[in-house]
Amino acid sequence: MIRLFKPYLGTEELQNIQDAFQRGWIGLGPKVTEFEEKWGKLINCPNTMALNSATAALHLAVTNYNFPRGKKILVPAITFVATASTVLYNQLEPIFVDVDPVTLQMDVKDLERKYTPDCVAVIPVHFTGYPSEIDAIVDFAGLHDLKVIEDCAHTGVGIYKGKRLGTWGDIGCYSFEEKKCMTTGDGGMICSKDPGVVTNLRPYRWVGIDKDTWRRAKKSQESMNLDAMHWHYEISVLGYKYNMNDLAASIGLAQLTKLDYMNQARGSHIDRYLEGMKDLKHIKPLVPYDTKRDIYHIFGVRCEKRDELIIFLTSKGISTGVHYYPLTLQPLFKKYNVGCETANSLWRTFITLPMFVELQDGEIDYILEALHEFEKVNWS
Ligand SMILES: *Cc1c(COP(=O)(O)O)cnc(C)c1O
Repeated sequence: MIRLFKPYLGTEELQNIQDAFQRGWIGLGPKVTEFEEKWGKLINCPNTMALNSATAALHLAVTNYNFPRGKKILVPAITFVATASTVLYNQLEPIFVDVDPVTLQMDVKDLERKYTPDCVAVIPVHFTGYPSEIDAIVDFAGLHDLKVIEDCAHTGVGIYKGKRLGTWGDIGCYSFEEKKCMTTGDGGMICSKDPGVVTNLRPYRWVGIDKDTWRRAKKSQESMNLDAMHWHYEISVLGYKYNMNDLAASIGLAQLTKLDYMNQARGSHIDRYLEGMKDLKHIKPLVPYDTKRDIYHIFGVRCEKRDELIIFLTSKGISTGVHYYPLTLQPLFKKYNVGCETANSLWRTFITLPMFVELQDGEIDYILEALHEFEKVNWS
């Protein structure tokens, strides 16, 4: 079976983990700080905070603003559940925005239609890694005093109009879950051009405590324990256990050094898929992939006979997925399903195909052959 996703891991990650073992500190510690600093350099935004997932990052991003209960947040209909869960975690209500039929990103026209004065924020998702019209979304948000939280879980990290995705809005959230563009096993990151965001949120990632144990241990060693109050900390907010740890950060630091290579490899896999699919009439790329411009996490296609194609590919030993069944159709969110006709119908054509660094040219050619065979059998 050709897998759908696979992390690209090697001896560099193991070496870094060994360093953490030798230090005898594998919780929240210096590796996390180093990873935060390096990530900040990559995206050109120094205010970063590492967490145990992008779900946690999204949760805290909304928590940061302390919006009054019942206010509304605009989210795309096609995304992973975490984008919308954060709205409910914070006792707010989602308003689902339809997707653009071509790019599958949040439809800015529908965003304008769905806006009500109750809205306090918008969470665009750069779905697949294709950039949302983030400049237009930021402009629109500015007119209505909406906070913009970018869900960058699929970006690895792309640049849009000269600026890294995740640094356009008020807060950017990244994922290092094992299937994403780079991984820490599980992990996430928050960034903001406003340093106050990270300062405010720091205790929230560590059960509400304003000084983490690494900093307290270091401080007490430096002052040779002469400070009898070195153990003291304050709890003034209801926090969560959302921190990244040094084991995860060790993996992340090694992954960072390979990120360009991994992005390039995935880009050339997509180019090979696109070249080989050019003559297909009934199986088309999921989005208008532009590998020179963007960095992608998902490669998918659209096909009217989607379910038959899934079964056919499975019979050939090719794994597939569907990203995503619209949230508007999920039981949890059904009551917020208003005016998302494009999302609610188009998803029936989506199939995600195998895409990971170590995917072989021969495997892509084999998948392309299968697509051609399916088209020939079904449409000639
Ligand atoms: C994976 C994903 C998340 C959640 O990331 P985790 O790190 O697994 O919590 C959020 N949004 C989108 C669009 C995702 O694909």
